[in-house]
Parts: sequence; structure tokens; C-alpha cells
Amino acid sequence: MRTFQTKFFVAALSAAVLALTVAGALFATTMRRQIDRRIESTLVAEARLAAELIARGTPLSTVPELDDEADRIGQLIGARTTFIAPDGTVVGDSFETLQGIAAMENHARRPEVLDARATGLGRARRYSATLKMDMLYVAVPVQHPSIAFVRVALPLTDVGNQLQAVLSATMTALGLALVGASIIAFVISQRIGRRVRLVADVARRYQSGDLTPAPLGFGDDEIGAVARALDRSVQEVGRRLAEQARDRSRMEAILTGMVEGVIVVDSHARLQLVNDAARQMLKLDEVGIGRPYVETLRLPAVVELVAAVLFGRTPDALQFSPPRDPQRTIIARAAPAAGAAEHGVVLVLHDITDLRRADQIRRDFVANVSHELRTPLTAIRGYVEALTDGNATPEESRRFIDVIGRHALRMERLVKDLLRLARLDARQEPLELVSCDTRGLADAVVADVTPAAVERHQRFAVRIEPGAESVRADPAKLHDALRNLVANAVTYAPAQTTILVDARRVDHRVEISVSDRGPGIPEEDLSRLFERFYRVDASRARDPGGTGLGLAIVKHLVELHGGNVRAENRPEGGAKFTIALPAARS
Ligand code: ADP
Repeated sequence: MRTFQTKFFVAALSAAVLALTVAGALFATTMRRQIDRRIESTLVAEARLAAELIARGTPLSTVPELDDEADRIGQLIGARTTFIAPDGTVVGDSFETLQGIAAMENHARRPEVLDARATGLGRARRYSATLKMDMLYVAVPVQHPSIAFVRVALPLTDVGNQLQAVLSATMTALGLALVGASIIAFVISQRIGRRVRLVADVARRYQSGDLTPAPLGFGDDEIGAVARALDRSVQEVGRRLAEQARDRSRMEAILTGMVEGVIVVDSHARLQLVNDAARQMLKLDEVGIGRPYVETLRLPAVVELVAAVLFGRTPDALQFSPPRDPQRTIIARAAPAAGAAEHGVVLVLHDITDLRRADQIRRDFVANVSHELRTPLTAIRGYVEALTDGNATPEESRRFIDVIGRHALRMERLVKDLLRLARLDARQEPLELVSCDTRGLADAVVADVTPAAVERHQRFAVRIEPGAESVRADPAKLHDALRNLVANAVTYAPAQTTILVDARRVDHRVEISVSDRGPGIPEEDLSRLFERFYRVDASRARDPGGTGLGLAIVKHLVELHGGNVRAENRPEGGAKFTIALPAARS
């Protein structure tokens, strides 16, 4: 893989190579031209000097003399020197012998000679047939009786040699510059590469979910600016995500804590959310979040309710029993959930089983009260009619009035008990807790019911065990509760039996029991005995005068103390009612 650093290095180096090559080429051509020009002008100066030397020197006329002179001057200036007569014949040449000179062709038409004749200076570059190489020629006119032009020439290979030296120096300089440039490019690319890698590392860390801010600065240039901008964006996004997560967990906490079941379905009919209450109410084992809601909510009525809202209708609330639990009643309401763009459905479930039960109890209660009142009222009305007929004997009349009195008394008891229950329900009887002497309390209760017991030759036994001598209670209320139990025992136990009132300490409770030798209570009725108006098969009751509210009041009074009351059958026969109260803290 080609890293950013490599690419940057290659780019910087290429730029340097290009720049250096162009500069080198420019330098080389300029140098070449300048050296060329200088060599040429030196050659011109040498030609002029040679012309001057000849013009001022002793006038020579023979060819051997002239050739010698040419050799001498050629030696002095280090270039081929040729003397040309006005007619163009060569009369001296530093590179040729006398025979050679004689064999040379006429030079009158040589370009440099023509130019020298025309302008006073001739220059030419060409292949020399004589020397078999490229030469640079410069010719100038001379004031001399037998020489018209002096021509000096330099082999172009010499020029090339001089140029070569400059070129190789330039190449060396370029090479060094290139090495320097690559070192600089390498160092810079490494530094930039390192910074880019640093930014990339931070970005990778952010990607993996670790949003702790980068501890390093990123520098002040563009890379730094980009890195800082990215860093800020990531931190901002991270902050928003955290905020969303907080909102979400808050919402989840609310939904989890709700008693109502909540189910959210999105506009594509996919399940979005199901809280715990909803799971329990609908007995959902598997919840496919993100899957079509019909896969999870199998009840056809509920599915239809959600579908109705999805189709834009406003359905009525739905009552149903959850699967495998016909005892419970749930009411479901579905409404559109306003989302950002689309509408889903919010389904809210209320478990109204308890409400319905309470409603049923209230209705039963009203029916019971009406029934309980109707019996004595009907009786009273009958006897009053019989009395008003005037046909009754005085004896009958007294009996009728007696019956009327008993029924009125029963109604009075009923109304009194109802009012007491109503007061207890409304918490209008404040609890005044004091430490009570258990024996005193039991004796007072026994004394209260003794007249009824004496009639039936029943006896009482009071037993207070150690640790139960005192109990923390509201004495009047505990007295009422205990009297109810003892009075029941007197009513339901046969004559000549003993009724036992005993108190004992059990762990952190004081238990007071009333046991009798009566018929006991059928097992199936034990659990319902404390309900209002509940009576064990009325035909068994010796005294139909009871209201059926006594034990309900006992339960209420005991629970007000934070205790409880229970009924059981004794193994030896008879019923046993136990009041358990929390013991006083010592
Ligand atoms: P009541 O005023 O009719 O006695 P209670 O609420 O006091 O009403 O008692 C409810 C029913 O419990 C009674 O009708 C009776 O059948 C039964 N019961 C209460 N105490 C005893 C007992 N000691 N032995 C047998 N049955 C009892």
C-alpha cells in the first residue's frame, strides 16, 4: 500500500527533480552559448592580433618565410593560423608543410574569407577537408604586401572539451542538490506523514467508540485545523449521543416503573418497544423488537386494535382476558404516536381486574345490605299489619310487639355495624396505642358476655402465659375485637362447655386466642369467614340475630394495629380464633 508519506515524498522529490533539471538545462545552454561566444571572441581577438603582428613585422614575401611566420604565430596563440594571399592562394599554414600548402585549394571562396573581404570579419564553422574535422574559422584582412587575410581556426572538439568541463561541474552540482532535495523531502514527508497518522489514529479510536478527547495538539496549519474541526465534531456528536442515551434510559426507567403496559409499534407495523408490565399482562415469552408486531402480539382482538390505528381509525377501548388467565381483565387503548414524520401506534394496557373486583364487592355489598334490611322490615310490616287488624288477642299482641322489637333491634345492630365499618374504612377512628394489661382486658371482655354465658351454663378460662402480660394496642378497639370473638364462641358453643381465652408470646408477636368446643367451621369457609356478610350455612346458626359483619369488623380493627386474625378448627373439635399483634418494642 502506498502511504500518504510515500506519495508526499514522491511528489516533493519529483518537483525538486523537475525544477533542478529545468534549471540545469537552462544553465547548461546559457553556459554553452557564453563559452561558445567567448571562445569565438577570443579567436577573433587572436586573429586581429596575428594580423597586427604581421602588419608591423618585417615584410616577408616568400612562401617558406610566410609559412614559418604562420607556424610561429600559430604556436603563440595555440590555434591553426593560415595566411591567404589576395587571390585566395594559401601562402602559410601552421598545420601544413610547404608541400601541403602547395596542394591546398584556393581559399578565395571560403565563406569566412568572403565575409572578411566584405565586412572586415568573417566567421564560419564547417568540416575541414584538410584536417578532417569540424573547425571554427575566423578571418580578418591584413595590411601586408603578400597576405590579404589571416585566418585562425580551432577544432570544435576543443570547444566541446571546454564545454564538457562546465557541464560535468553543473551535473555534479545538480546531483548534490538532488541528494539535498531528497533528504529535505524525506524529512518533511516523514513529519507530515507522522501528523497525518496521528490524526488517523485518533479517528480510528473514535470509530471504535472511545471518545475521550485527543491529548495532543494537532499544530497550527491546515492539517491541524482539519483535525481540530473533526475532533470538535466528534466530541459534539459524542455529547449528543450521551444525551440521547440519558434520555433513553430515563424513558426506559419510566416505562419499566409503570404499572400500565406500554407497547409501541412503528408506522411499518414493526414492534418498537414493549415494557415489562405489558410482557407480564400479555404473558409474552418472546418479544421480537424490530419484527412485525403480529409475530409477538398474537391475540386477534389486540392485533385488530393496532391495525385499526395504523389504518387511521380511532377504535374504542378493548376489554379482554389475557391468554391462559380468564380471571383477569385488561383494558387496551390504542392511539396514534406522533413521530417526527410518520405515525406509529401506542398501545396502553390497564389491568382492571382489581377495579372490577372492587366494583363487584361494592355491588354485592349493596345487595347484601338491602337483603339484610328487607327481612326484618318485612317481618315488622307483617306484625304491624296484624296488630292494626285488631283481631289479635292481647297475648298475641304482646308477642307481636316482642317480635317487632327484636327485628328493630337487629336492624339497629346492623346499622350500627355498617356505620362502624364505614368509619373504619374512612379511617375516622384514630388508633391510640398504649400498653394494655392483657389479663385486665380479657377479664373485662369475659365480664361483658357473662350474662349470656350464664344462661347457657358456659364457663370461661383465661390463661396468660409469660411474655404476654402486656400488649401494645388501642384498648377500646382490642376490647371490641376480642368481645366479638368471645360472643361468637358463646353463641356457637354448646351449653356446659368451657371457652378458653389465652395469650402467649410468639417471636415478635403477642397472640390472643379464643377457643370453644362448638361445631367448628367447615374447611371451605375458613378463608372467607372474615368477608362482610359471610355466614356459614345460615341454617346451622342457632341465633339468626347475627349481622354477619362481626368478623369483618374484627379483621379491620386488628389490621389497624398492624396485626392479623385467623380462624382454624381445633383437632379436639371446636373453633379457634387468633388475634396476632406486633409486640411492644422493648
Ligand atoms: P355473625 O354476626 O353472624 O356472628 P360473624 O362475622 O361474627 O357474624 O361470623 C360469621 C360467621 O362465622 C357466622 O355466621 C358463623 O357461621 C361463623 N362463626 C363465627 N364464630 C364461630 C364460632 N366460634 N364457631 C363456629 N362458627 C362461627
